[in-house]
Order: sequence, then C-alpha cells, then structure tokens
Amino acid sequence: MKKQVNRIDCIACGKRELSKNEIGLNKKILGREVQVFYCINCLAAELDLTVEKLLSAIENFKEQGCTLFE
Ligand SMILES: [Zn+2]
Repeated sequence: MKKQVNRIDCIACGKRELSKNEIGLNKKILGREVQVFYCINCLAAELDLTVEKLLSAIENFKEQGCTLFE
C-alpha cells in the first residue's frame, strides 16, 4: 500500500504536488508552521534569489543531515 502523503500545490503558480525538497525548503526558510507553500521557482522569485542558490541551499541542509530533505 502506498504511504499517505499530503499533496501540496504551489500557492503562487499552482504547480501540483511539490517535492519533498521544495516543501522542506519552505519550512526551513518560512518556518515549520507555514501553511502555504511555494514551488522552487516561485520561492526564488519571492526571496529574490536564483533557483541555483536554493538548490545549493538544499544540498547544504542535506549535508547537515536535515530530515526535511531527501
Ligand atoms: Zn510556483
């Protein structure tokens, strides 16, 4: 049986079923209590950062052993 996962869509562009990394990044940057989530593209636009920067941030968090990322 497939594990039940909450499907989360991007609040800004409507991209469906954000990845675990995208969701993790929202929680990491916006706080664990966030109710709305952005895809990586919209998050980059929102924060005035590049997607590349966010991707390398994800890699850093993973290296720190953060469980929000895969
Ligand atoms: Zn989006």
